[in-house]
Amino acid sequence: MTAEQAPIRTVVIVGGGTAGWMAAAAAARFLNDGQRRIVLVESDAIGTVGVGEATIPPILGFNRLLGIEERDFLRETGATFKLGIEFVGWDTGQDRYFHPFGPHGRDIEGLNFHQLWLKLRDQPGIGTIDEYSASAMAARHGRFAAPADDPRDPLSQLAYAYHFDAGLYAAFLRRRAEDGGVVRIEGRITGTDRDPDNGHLRAVLLDGDRRVEGDLFIDCSGFRSLLLGDAMGVPFEDWSHWLPCDSALAVPTERTEPLLPFTRSTAHPAGWQWRIGLQHRTGNGHVYASAHMSDAEAERLLIAHLDARPTADPRKLSFRAGRRLRLWEGNVVALGLAGGFLEPLESTSIHLIQAGISKLFGLFPDRRFVAVERDEYNRLMGDAYTAIRDFIILHYHATRRDDSPFWRYVRTMPIPDSLAHKIMLFREKGRIFRYDDELFAIPSWVAVMLGQNIRPTGYDPVVDALDGDRVAAALRQMRAGIADAVGGLPTQSEYIARYAPASRR
Ligand code: FAD
Repeated sequence: MTAEQAPIRTVVIVGGGTAGWMAAAAAARFLNDGQRRIVLVESDAIGTVGVGEATIPPILGFNRLLGIEERDFLRETGATFKLGIEFVGWDTGQDRYFHPFGPHGRDIEGLNFHQLWLKLRDQPGIGTIDEYSASAMAARHGRFAAPADDPRDPLSQLAYAYHFDAGLYAAFLRRRAEDGGVVRIEGRITGTDRDPDNGHLRAVLLDGDRRVEGDLFIDCSGFRSLLLGDAMGVPFEDWSHWLPCDSALAVPTERTEPLLPFTRSTAHPAGWQWRIGLQHRTGNGHVYASAHMSDAEAERLLIAHLDARPTADPRKLSFRAGRRLRLWEGNVVALGLAGGFLEPLESTSIHLIQAGISKLFGLFPDRRFVAVERDEYNRLMGDAYTAIRDFIILHYHATRRDDSPFWRYVRTMPIPDSLAHKIMLFREKGRIFRYDDELFAIPSWVAVMLGQNIRPTGYDPVVDALDGDRVAAALRQMRAGIADAVGGLPTQSEYIARYAPASRR
């Protein structure tokens, strides 16, 4: 940093939900140079959204960077392991498919595995693409173990994330953040003070005539978007014409056995229901479009599809799909719900918080707040939101369901050009390209495209250069290797009981 690059002295984080405490814990670890003040303001009276229990594999990297021991994390947050998502009834109403974490099979001579499988799929002994995913096969049998270290072992291809209790995770991170020097201020924000010259935020105003000044403000105030939306006036880009679900009812139930190592997403007439098994309870919720279903009917369906006794009354949440046009404006950066919302179908919101934190730290400003750093952040995060948006729309649009006005709407609605292009490419020869920093890798797109019955009419002709019999033999061997290896794994309950039983059942 040169003399004119005056360092940020005070970082003010507004909000103490998952976003706020993730940002605070990361700031304590990476921004606390002994000179900088890191403050978090939250209001217990307002509370947090309190949901958000399913994650995707990059969360392991986030925890690791923070120096979190997996065993401590599992015990403290009631967490379980997640190998992917089972989608029930998303194509015809009667179907089910699995979106696993990790790859399908192994590429041969640089050719994508799924292209080899597409060519050979009708031959005897080749089986379904799922049978080449260690994660999908372990999930199917309710089994789990940490991935093997030896790359030749089929279990090295296991990949996983977590289900955890959102409240316990925030509390866990809070302890780490406060130990790392973050100062928490309890209070309700009633206003803001902006510099009339450059529009930057100077302070947030709290009840009791208090004022918290800062150089950089991280808005984690949830759907209210107090700083980026209200104070800075950054408009919201509405995506609800593509993603019409705007409501959810969430209800916990008692823990059940077996403890499934995956999230289940069951399609309903105007949305879908999640099921997330934790160590101490199961989280359930029904996400639906209020234009197509009343709250009473949504609650009836939710309760009818529970597999255990509810332990509380259903709680209603309302939202709108979309994001703020810019996630960094002036000296304000929004993380979490303050920046935007994409429904939890692929468990991506917590990941977007993590991505926002790592990109903000990667482009950490000084007090001049130069445009090029801000613009790069906005470009990267804008692309991240858009790619996830397209992936979620795919689940709704590529369906044969025709049994309700909701499904007729989503299957016939115009979709973003970016997604239409991806579907056309896949339909032709099963090709998928991963653009830039796009989150979901080829196996994810392949699993969901095939699961939603998009059948490529051909395969990549380059595959014909390989000896078909040799490739078929290799595939049969991979399939048998995975079945064998998965058969020897413990159930998830056995694994957790041995590895890290929760302290808070
Ligand atoms: P909040 O939890 O709403 O926190 C906002 C904070 O701001 C609170 O501390 C509040 O007190 C504070 N605040 C607000 N106003 C003021 C004020 N005036 N003064 C002081 N403080 C204030 N994500 C996933 O990754 N996986 C999932 O499975 C998943 N499921 C979801 C299901 C549903 C139905 C919904 C709605 C979301 C789900 N999410 C999921 C998203 C996830 O819940 C959020 O991304 C995550 O909880 C982050 O929320 P947040 O911290 O941004 O906001």
